[in-house]
Amino acid sequence: MYRVLNKLPNKSDSKPLPIVVIGNGPSGICLSYLLSGYIPYIKRGSAHPHPILQRKLEETPEVPIIDQDLEYLSEGLEGRSQSPVALLFDTLLRPDTDFGGTAESVLTWWHETNRAIPHLILGRNPPGGAWHLIEGSMITLSQGEWMGLPDLQFKDWMRKKRRGLRNNRATAEDIAQYYQHYVAKKGLQQNFICGTVVTSVKKVSPDVNFSYAQQDPEGNSHSFWVFPEKDDQIASGNLFQVDGFIKNTNGCQQPFSIYAENVVLATGTYDSPSKLGVNGEDLPFVHHKLSALEEAVKNKRVGMTSDPVLIVGAGLTAADAILFAHHCNIPVIHAFRRRVNDPGLIFNQLPKMMYPEYHKVHQMMKEQSVACPGPYECYVSLPEHHVLSFTEDKKCIFQDKSGHQKVFNISMAFVLIGSNPNLSFLPNNGIDLAIDNEQPVNSKRNPINVDPFTYECVQEKGLYAVGPLAGDNFVRFVQGGVLAVASSLLKKANKNPP
Ligand SMILES: Cc1cc2nc3c(=O)[nH]c(=O)nc-3n(C[C@H](O)[C@H](O)[C@H](O)COP(=O)(O)OP(=O)(O)OC[C@H]3O[C@@H](n4cnc5c(N)ncnc54)[C@H](O)[C@@H]3O)c2cc1C
Repeated sequence: MYRVLNKLPNKSDSKPLPIVVIGNGPSGICLSYLLSGYIPYIKRGSAHPHPILQRKLEETPEVPIIDQDLEYLSEGLEGRSQSPVALLFDTLLRPDTDFGGTAESVLTWWHETNRAIPHLILGRNPPGGAWHLIEGSMITLSQGEWMGLPDLQFKDWMRKKRRGLRNNRATAEDIAQYYQHYVAKKGLQQNFICGTVVTSVKKVSPDVNFSYAQQDPEGNSHSFWVFPEKDDQIASGNLFQVDGFIKNTNGCQQPFSIYAENVVLATGTYDSPSKLGVNGEDLPFVHHKLSALEEAVKNKRVGMTSDPVLIVGAGLTAADAILFAHHCNIPVIHAFRRRVNDPGLIFNQLPKMMYPEYHKVHQMMKEQSVACPGPYECYVSLPEHHVLSFTEDKKCIFQDKSGHQKVFNISMAFVLIGSNPNLSFLPNNGIDLAIDNEQPVNSKRNPINVDPFTYECVQEKGLYAVGPLAGDNFVRFVQGGVLAVASSLLKKANKNPP
């Protein structure tokens, strides 16, 4: 096994690590589980409700799913994801969930330590990724069960914690805690280096001289990782140099540099909030995170008697901000570009019964526009308006669909219009890896171009992408991509059974 060290003298003959994963959210955690040798088999005696899949599963019941032909197994599956392997793994874990059923997973997990591959999971926050940044009291859009990872049911953990679901949904805080618990319970901690920020990933020649010596600002040499000394050559011919820094407990940043044969990008899309790109957007009263509103309320920078806060956007984060402000009796101006009954608006796609709070926001958006005042106090909506600029004296200038301009006094502005991945650690911000390699990577419109059955980047062998970066935006569906990566890496490492 590799060791993690804080300081070490030069070590000139270490070999590269087989796998480095950047990002420690649900994608990175699930991958660490599979790479640690946890192997999924079909449970003896189980029957999958999908008859064709069941027939295929019966053909080779002794072969673990991870070693089977994922393309063959997933052929013909339909559901709420575009990815065949995402649908496959999801239906094996939650066989009839889309029909409201609660059938148990048809998978059973065996810990085959001889199949484990050494790997490191690097991440900025504690294990759980974006879930540590999302406001803790926020309720998930997905059912609690869909947030769970393999072989540790979310509902069982909630029961043990004596926590209850709300309308079958959980809070972000519960989810973040569950992911941390998962890592501990499955004994994965040694693979995780938290507080680590990757600043560069580049391909290097496999003939490089492996030295892990680093210089800190005082000129001292450090190294963090010592790998097993293997005699075999770099099997794949790929070699990546991963650079970054780790924050020590005393707050200092220590640089590191490691080599890896394969790198998995699992960095999600929550790090760089989208901007409007208008004048005044960088003024200090304009924010791009929901947490800034909570902080402002806590610090009494806004309250019932302040000028209204402006919330820009018509997604669920904007809706969460409106609910929060409403709860605190803070006056709100809500601006968004779409029509209230635009079918593309998320509120028009959510079942009312399951999401009463978002239905309420949608009602306010419809019934209390600036053009026709309605029953709700402290809220006014500006549908089909876009922001033209912010001024230093805390005014916001809008333009409506007919080109008329309006000016409102505001106390603070919260631009909550989504976020983009931050791939600044890759050459050309990762644009070359995207499906349209002239546009920035975007989880919905322009994800990284990956092989659908290995999730290896089409443009760069040895580099993989999972989760929203590869277009899988929900936790229940990121796991299939992870299965595909693990299956491919096990094959590369010759860790398949004979
Ligand atoms: C407000 C909100 C609500 C959501 N609600 C739901 C829901 O109800 N159901 C659902 O299924 N999904 C939901 N999602 C989506 C869900 O968060 C993602 O699908 C999931 O977290 C993706 O997991 P991931 O591991 O790929 O990435 P993430 O969870 O985003 O984790 C990636 C981690 O990598 C870290 N990282 C990034 N760059 C670097 C770097 N250079 N160096 C080191 N670390 C880095 C990030 O800081 C982050 O901690 C929601 C997302 C948001 C923002």
